[in-house]
Amino acid sequence: MEDSKILVTKTSMPSYEEYIEAIRPLWDSHWITNMGVYHRDFENKLKDYLAVPEVSLMVNGHMALEMAIQAFDFPRGSEVITTPFTFISTTHAIVRNGLVPVFCDVKAEDGTMDEALIEQLITEKTVAIIPVHVYGNICNVEEISRIAQKHGLKVIYDAAHAFGEKYKGVGIGNFGDASVFSFHATKVFNTIEGGAVAFSDHKLYEKLYDLKNFGIHGTELVEGVGANAKMNEFCAIMGICNLKHIDEYIEERRIRWEYYRNELSSVRGISFLCGETPTVQRNYSYFPILIGQEYQTNRDGLFEHMADRNIFARKYFFPLTCDQNCYKDHNAKAYLRNSGLKVDIARNLASRVLVIPFWADMEQSVQDSIISMIK
Ligand SMILES: *Cc1c(COP(=O)(O)O)cnc(C)c1O
Repeated sequence: MEDSKILVTKTSMPSYEEYIEAIRPLWDSHWITNMGVYHRDFENKLKDYLAVPEVSLMVNGHMALEMAIQAFDFPRGSEVITTPFTFISTTHAIVRNGLVPVFCDVKAEDGTMDEALIEQLITEKTVAIIPVHVYGNICNVEEISRIAQKHGLKVIYDAAHAFGEKYKGVGIGNFGDASVFSFHATKVFNTIEGGAVAFSDHKLYEKLYDLKNFGIHGTELVEGVGANAKMNEFCAIMGICNLKHIDEYIEERRIRWEYYRNELSSVRGISFLCGETPTVQRNYSYFPILIGQEYQTNRDGLFEHMADRNIFARKYFFPLTCDQNCYKDHNAKAYLRNSGLKVDIARNLASRVLVIPFWADMEQSVQDSIISMIK
């Protein structure tokens, strides 16, 4: 039965009545896209919630990444130091901007970019660092800024997993030159589809405003080779509704996250790729486990055992983006060779990680059946 399938996550939604009531004014105004009143209202509400100076809404997280990168006008062919242990979107956004991804290995303990390896990857062509706060695990933002400043590089964080998180009390969107969030249905916070760029330089607001609307500046002038990446009013309203409940969603996730940790921590060969650190206020977005040698089977074995019982975990992030067909024979390999560096830790994590089903109002019985299956 389709219904009995347990997927890796379930979208958080406001009540039907709440959303329907909220979209009613659109039938009066007939203004359903093109930076309408809800677009502006939602941008302001997000600035408050994320505690950042500026926010530009986008149609999805991927276009937010593409637009954020494009806004810096890097020369084509420039190099960007990034991580292969991420969703394919991060690497695609770099390549689709005509830039070359240079893959840096990650740290075994949290899967974020290993800041100690960044400097040896910098060449005269390097223009930026694009790290990922993978699973909401926060990168070493202090060391990354220090390196970027020293070498005159831009830093754009893929913060798709880090919505609402804080580092030392500071909203995560305040680090680097820009941070990109995804509001896809599968993320902690959603606008059906959507995304945003957070930053502090006000000039970037205008630039992104134009870029997401075909590069049109004012009414007739086209100043940039833009795209169509605007968020429509239905999505903005979904965001306004969900934002009212986001703290409840995160609290519900926290309770279930701790339950998983308590129940699974004693299982031999199972460890976690996410943890609590005193400096980070988490959003509990994912529950990634690592399958070690002492476990009864390997990652794929556990994945299949669960799938046979209608529980669909996900191998996020396997394969590494640099190992995907579209990249493995191109620049990526060449750069790995040239740098003399390998992404062994990332590849090891990718072969052992499993993101198990997890969402805000997950029923305890479902959680219990997943726990007993793993045990
Ligand atoms: C989801 C995601 C994206 C893309 O966001 P969309 O809103 O789905 O376009 C980019 N990077 C990472 C790490 C993601 O998980």
